[in-house]
Parts: sequence; structure tokens; C-alpha cells
Amino acid sequence: MGVPAALGDMEKVRIDDVKGRPGPAAVARPLTDALGASDVALNYYELAPGESFAYGYHRHERQEELFVVQQGTVTFETESGDVPVEGGEVVRFAPGEFQRGVNEGDERVVALALGAPLVRGDTEIRRQCDDCGERTRHTVKRADDGGTLVCCLDCEAVTGRFE
Ligand SMILES: [Zn+2]
Repeated sequence: MGVPAALGDMEKVRIDDVKGRPGPAAVARPLTDALGASDVALNYYELAPGESFAYGYHRHERQEELFVVQQGTVTFETESGDVPVEGGEVVRFAPGEFQRGVNEGDERVVALALGAPLVRGDTEIRRQCDDCGERTRHTVKRADDGGTLVCCLDCEAVTGRFE
């Protein structure tokens, strides 16, 4: 029995085959477009010790975000303090809630991040700017050489650069 054509919208990809994206994580594979997902964002991450999922403390205005931690321990900075999330645990952040997950352990972190609804350009980033002397709003830009720059919106200083 064949699959009816009307059900032919399934997409399957091997995570390792999806091109990585430069950023603060050792491995960040964006699966949303690879799967043709229309309503949910999905990213695969591996964090070496000291690394983070995100460019800074951030929130999504309309998107809730869930992390499925498969291996290692992620320490999330949240509005109510630091929250460790271990392999085998999941955590959910509501739209508008600030958070940042960092691997503060010795073991490599493997995790999936899901965001829904799928809204692009929905992220507000706060990051330490030494020129401003405080945590300020930041934006992420593509550099002329293809790298990624993280820039303070108050003074335009570049506070992070990723290849
Ligand atoms: Zn600044």
C-alpha cells in the first residue's frame, strides 16, 4: 500500500546533515527550514563547557520557548534566579520571559530548542556592554566577511563576534 499523495508533505532530515550556523554554541543546526516547518521553530544544539545557546539574556515577545535537554546540564539565568536543567529534563519559558541557558558544567550539553508560534525577528537581547557600563539592548548583524556581530543598540559597540 502506497502513501496517498495528499499525505505527501512529510519531511525527514538527518540532523548531522543540516548546515550549522555560527554563534555562541559549538553546534547549532537550524532544523526549521530544513523541515519546512511553518508554525514551530526547531534548533539542535551542542554546548561545550562555558558555551550558551544564545547571544545574551533574551526574550521572545510572542514565542514560547521549550528546551529538551538530552545530555549534560544547562544552567538557565531566569527572572527568578538560576535554574539547572539536566539531561532527561525539559523546561518551558513563556512569551516575554527573559532567559539564557549556559553550560556551566564539565560535560557537553546536547539539547533541542522549540519555539512556537514561529515568529522571526521576535527576539530582544540584553548583553553586557563595557562601553556603556551596563547590560544594554543588542542586535545581531552579519559582517561583511560573513561573520556574525553582536552590537550594542545604545552605542553601536561590537561586544561579540562569531565566525
Ligand atoms: Zn554600549
